[in-house]
Amino acid sequence: MSKESRRLPDLFGSMVFDEETMKDRLSPSCYKAWKKSVSDSIPLDISTANEIAEAMKQWAVEKGATHYTHWFQPMTGVTAEKHDSFIQPAGGGRVVMEFSGKELVRGESDASSFPSGGLRATFEARGYTAWDPTSFAFIKEKSLCIPTIFCSYSGHALDKKMPLLRSMDAVSKEAVRILRLFGNNTAKRVIAQVGSEQEYFLIDKELYKQREDLIMTGRTLIGAKPPRGQELEDHYYGAIRPRVQSYMQDLDNELWKLGVLSKTKHNEVAPSQHEMAPIFTDANMACDQNQITMEMMKKVADRHGLVCLLHEKPFAGVNGSGKHDNWSLGTDTGENLFKPGSTPRENAQFLLFLTAFIKGVDEYQDMLRATVATPGNDHRLGAQEAPPAVVSIFMGEELSAVIESIIDDTAYTNAGKRTLAIGVDTMPPIPMDNTDRNRTSPMAFTGNKFEFRMVGSSLSISGPNIVLNTMMAEELGRFADELEKSDDFHHDLNALIRRELTAHKRIIFDGNGYDEAWIEEAKRRGLCNNISTVDALPAYITDKNIELFTSHSIYTRDEVYARYNIHVENYTATISMEARTLIDMLRKEILPAVSRYGSTLCRGVEKRKALGFPAKYEEMNALNNCMLTDCLSDACDKLEKDLRIVPSDPEEAMRYCHTVIVPDMNECRSFADELESITARDAWPIPVYSDLLFSEI
Ligand code: ADP
Ligand code: MG
Repeated sequence: MSKESRRLPDLFGSMVFDEETMKDRLSPSCYKAWKKSVSDSIPLDISTANEIAEAMKQWAVEKGATHYTHWFQPMTGVTAEKHDSFIQPAGGGRVVMEFSGKELVRGESDASSFPSGGLRATFEARGYTAWDPTSFAFIKEKSLCIPTIFCSYSGHALDKKMPLLRSMDAVSKEAVRILRLFGNNTAKRVIAQVGSEQEYFLIDKELYKQREDLIMTGRTLIGAKPPRGQELEDHYYGAIRPRVQSYMQDLDNELWKLGVLSKTKHNEVAPSQHEMAPIFTDANMACDQNQITMEMMKKVADRHGLVCLLHEKPFAGVNGSGKHDNWSLGTDTGENLFKPGSTPRENAQFLLFLTAFIKGVDEYQDMLRATVATPGNDHRLGAQEAPPAVVSIFMGEELSAVIESIIDDTAYTNAGKRTLAIGVDTMPPIPMDNTDRNRTSPMAFTGNKFEFRMVGSSLSISGPNIVLNTMMAEELGRFADELEKSDDFHHDLNALIRRELTAHKRIIFDGNGYDEAWIEEAKRRGLCNNISTVDALPAYITDKNIELFTSHSIYTRDEVYARYNIHVENYTATISMEARTLIDMLRKEILPAVSRYGSTLCRGVEKRKALGFPAKYEEMNALNNCMLTDCLSDACDKLEKDLRIVPSDPEEAMRYCHTVIVPDMNECRSFADELESITARDAWPIPVYSDLLFSEI
């Protein structure tokens, strides 16, 4: 065993004030009080908070920390922190390191620069942060980070953590009701469990610095397809190159110190694209850890002379990056509720949870789609590399056959071998074939969990998981209402499952999601196909979806609108910023360069002719250059003109950006890319795709 691997268990979580550490460093009564506060979701009393704060501070100072920060997740989708040092004046010009329970559990920050979507009037600019004792504090760059929720004075959630915690409570409550119906009286909580696989690109920092578009927008706004793309498919799971290998090792070390269960790493489909997957944990922790992961991916890259791109589509014509959100429900006693069991009772329970999920996805498909709607993800969904914009569930052959036979009330034949009568109360063991991983499906059942594959690589996973949890809470709650009243549980359970599977089977699709024919078929089935962010976002504010959130106390109506407003404004802000960056690049780099190059070509034509030679090649080149340069210049003028008249109403502005600015940008791009392909390498002013993607990193 190497020295490294021997040290790993010690390294793991060494920068986390986790349960073990608390047990070690707190008095037994304080530790018990903390446990109770977590399990019963009750606030900590001040003396417990004081003791925890003192222990946390001592631990952090021993590890070299000098500051503390409430670490929170505003609605921007990234994390925010405000650092205060531990020092307190102790008289005589000396200081002591202090940290009180009050500072631990509650903070106040001037929050006027965070988006509130209209929730906070400008005169009420303060925001409050409160420790979420279900996530552990950790040390990052000499600061003790305390994961907190972020809310307004009036208690409105201004962040992505508070609603996620609410949704976890909601689904737990309703799932426990179902478990009781099946005679389970031991489980006290049901936990939403998540493992999120993260894709990313790594490129050389020196090249990155020469691309204004990458610096400003995280993606390339122009760039012709390189002679070689991903067609050889030699990158996927290929040998990891040494520079990337050492980056990944370093990243793992940093993540392990922070208690992130980074488990697998491999090359992805596109050149320079990679993936990291952690071991799943509860949804709240998974969400925190994914934020930490994204931050660390960028920081560690910098140390290696690399840049980590988390944008959904850094390069046109090359696969983009997503984040697979693997989601399931498990009891606090360790039972996975999406795992088919071995007894009829377990399988009936499994089928009920499965039915609730199918119904939920069908009824809230528009909302699930809305949670992954961003300008970056618009480049991926439906582009034959990621799932289409239509939400459907892949069940796999075996389970689909079971579902069919329940709906048709027919016997179920297992691969021609056995024929089994399907009645829920006599459910036979369900043979599971989870080898078929349909990569084209937006939501795939993979044996004991669902994999939501529409999430973009840069997104917080909080939004999608809030919807998954809440829709499950809704459906399980309705089922519980019905079955709790039943006099004949088995009969009514059978009837309910059959009824709901029949009503919602349209959402199940096992075929190829990239196929055009599926889009047609989906339309016939009445499924939503909200192709762009602009089509998808209005789902936030439909009566049906607002009712879902408000009835489970996940969001108030105002809180839903706040999120909708922020997404609408973010769309316009992103597209406008991209457009301004593109104009800047075209005016200051591309147009001057191609025009200079054009002059050289024209002079070349004259010189050859003066010598009495024909100038066929030079003339053709010069002509193409002149023509395309004019087209590009005109397209750039048009973009600039249109950008000046973006409507002031936020929704109109969003639609305008989608229908006018995006096509204008595409037009500019097409001319720029054509010019790139006819311009001598040394005359092109910025690194091209083959430099960025194939530099031997
Ligand atoms: P792959 O999808 O590449 O075949 P796995 O199925 O092993 O890989 O897991 C992918 C991700 O799903 C990992 O992050 C893993 O921890 C997570 N995962 C596994 N089981 C569950 C579960 N029951 N609930 C949520 N996530 C899970
Ligand atoms: Mg996967």
